[in-house]
Formats: sequence, C-alpha cells, structure tokens
Amino acid sequence: MAHLVTLIPGDGIGPEVSEATRRVLDATGVGIEWDAHDAGAGVLEREGTTLPERVLEQIRRSRVAIKGPITTPVGTGFRSVNVALRHELDLFAAVRPSRSLPGVPTPHPGVDLVVIRENTEDLYRGVEYERGSPEAAELRAELLRLTGRASREDAGFTVKPISVTGARRIVRFAMEFVRSNGRRKVTLGHKANIMRFSDGLFLSIGQVEAESHPDVWFEDMQIDQLSMRLTREPETFDVLLLPNLYGDILSDLCAGLVGGLGLAAGANLGWEYAVFEPVHGSAPDIAGRGVANPVAMILSGAMLLRHLREDGAAAAVEAAVDRVLAAGEVRTPDLGGTSSTDEVAAAVAKDLQVPGPTG
Ligand code: NAD
Repeated sequence: MAHLVTLIPGDGIGPEVSEATRRVLDATGVGIEWDAHDAGAGVLEREGTTLPERVLEQIRRSRVAIKGPITTPVGTGFRSVNVALRHELDLFAAVRPSRSLPGVPTPHPGVDLVVIRENTEDLYRGVEYERGSPEAAELRAELLRLTGRASREDAGFTVKPISVTGARRIVRFAMEFVRSNGRRKVTLGHKANIMRFSDGLFLSIGQVEAESHPDVWFEDMQIDQLSMRLTREPETFDVLLLPNLYGDILSDLCAGLVGGLGLAAGANLGWEYAVFEPVHGSAPDIAGRGVANPVAMILSGAMLLRHLREDGAAAAVEAAVDRVLAAGEVRTPDLGGTSSTDEVAAAVAKDLQVPGPTG
C-alpha cells in the first residue's frame, strides 16, 4: 500500500528542491502518494493566512509531511509557519544530523553527530513584552515586588520557560533515539550555573533520566565550552541534546562544520506527527535560478523514508548522494560546481541502488 505523504513545497527555492526530492524518492520505487499543499507567503496573499487550517488537517490525516523552506513575512504580524506547525502538531523534537560527506572537504572530516533540539519551550515560546507597553510596565512592577530589583524602564522582555514535562519528554526522546539508532552518547548542553531554574531544571531532568538509561553514556557541558569544543573536536560528539535556543544556534554551526546549509537535513517530530524539512531557509538571493542545492532536502527525504520504515530505500538514497558528491562531477555552485538543482536530482536518482524486497 502506498504511503500517504503531505508535501509543502514552500517559498523561494522551496519548490525547486521539493521537486528534486520528489523525483529521487519516487525513483526508489517506494510507493508514495503525494498530497501537495501550499503554505507561506504566496498563500498569505490569496487566503489571508500563511498556514490554512486545511494544510494542518491534511498533515493530521497523513501523519507525515515533508516541507520546503517557508519565508517568514517580516512585519505582517503573522507568526512563522514553522513555529505554528511545531506548536499546532506538538512537534517537540527537532532532529538534525550532521555528517561529513565524501568529496566535501572540511577541516574536520570525521563528523557524525545529531543535534536534538527541544522545539516548544525556552526563549522561543513567544512570551514577550515590548519595551514601553503597559504589559512591560506591569511585569516590571511585579518583578520589582518579587525580587526587590528594578529593571530599566526602557527594557523589553522575553521569558524563558522550561518545564519538567517539556524537559522530560525531550530527554527521554533523546535516550530512545540513541538506543534505536545505534548511537552511544548524549551530551546535554546548558548554562545551569547562571540560569538555575530553567537550564538547571533541564540539566537535572537529564541527570535523573540518565540513571534509568544506564546503557546510554551521558555527559553534560556548559554551552560556551560545548561551542568551543565543537569547533575544535566535533568528531568526539555523538548526540547533542539542547534546549530550543542553543539547539537552533548549534544546529547551524554543525551544518557549517560539514559543508554548509545546502547539505543539512532535519526532522520535527512529536509522538503523533512528523514533518521533515531541510535546515536552510528559502534563500531569496538564488530563488528561481535552478541552482539551489537539493541535497539537504533529499537527505530530509531519506529521513522520512526511514520514519516510514523503508530503511533500505533510505540507506540507498544516502549512499547515492554520497557517491554523487564523491564523484564531484555533478554539484551545485554552493559546493563549487556548475550543475543545476535538476541535474543533481537526476544524478542521485540514476545512481540509486535500492535493494529488492526480501522474504
Ligand atoms: P537561508 O538559509 O535562506 O539562506 C542563507 C544563505 O545560504 C543564502 O546565501 C542562501 O543562498 C544560502 N542557501 C540556503 N540554502 C541553500 C541551498 N539549498 N543551496 C544553496 N545555497 C543555499 O537563510 P535566510 O536568508 O536567513 O532566510 C531566508 C528566509 O527563509 C527568511 O524568510 C527566513 O525566515 C526563512 N527561513 C525558513 C526556514 C524554514 O522554513 N525552515 C528556515 C530558515 C529560514
């Protein structure tokens, strides 16, 4: 039976890399019934919202989606589609692998790590008070009452909630991820010495859960030290477990370690739904020219295949990407080549060696 998958092509380079991905995934022979829906800037003009309810309903129906990047319209008052999707579908875990790829020279050739980022809390929760607003004044007064310390009158505020419930589920997710993906170690990043009641809580939940997962090697590291060590010895890390903000920053850093945004795949996962997407944005500077690197989204497609338990096809896509990159003849300009998005997709599709059905 075919797998029903919702496809959101996205904005900018999104439709170009989405089409390339669809072509490669179709070439694996895994039956996928694509259900394409628009969201984002184009839809805002037509329908007055960037994320129509019917798109959410469709994802709830298919349970699995893959999306291209979506432009966040600045100054329209509409929240980012990405944030809305994570919130509405409770996609609490972002999973972003960074692996050194053959034929893509970098200072650290042996990188093979995965960033697991908590997606729903922390400074990205959206609890904010604008400088000069009545709410900010009220909050300042309350903080003065509670702490005895005055905040500046011209201060804006962003609140950082981290809960036991939110921390526990992402820590457990990370431990299970290690177990089921043949990984060995979790490094939890934090700044618990300064933010005792948010990062400190995240850390303490990690330590408690580590005790009930003795087969997973657990360590914690302050986020500044972790950043430094990532630039010097990234090959020593395996799974990084991070609260929202640090996870956002370090997953781009890790993408840079292995050759840039054009190669970095990702998934947003919850207990019920899964939305796969490349780490990069809609790249308006190169959109419409057919030169975007489709590898990040193709590798996100491989993650989707694995989620659908099509492990053979997933491994075949990754191996074909590796071979095409290693050969070095077909690559997009961000990797120093002259090929188009379509040419890369065609080369990967042609190189696929999907194992036949067994049993
Ligand atoms: P970006 O990732 O779009 O681009 C940063 C740089 O990387 C640009 O020079 C771009 O050309 C290059 N780049 C990105 N992807 C590439 C690819 N596949 N191949 C070759 N080069 C690539 O980041 P930005 O410019 O900060 O953001 C542009 C828009 O995308 C914004 O509206 C932002 O909100 C949105 N965005 C969306 C997502 C998402 O949908 N998940 C993620 C990040 C940014």
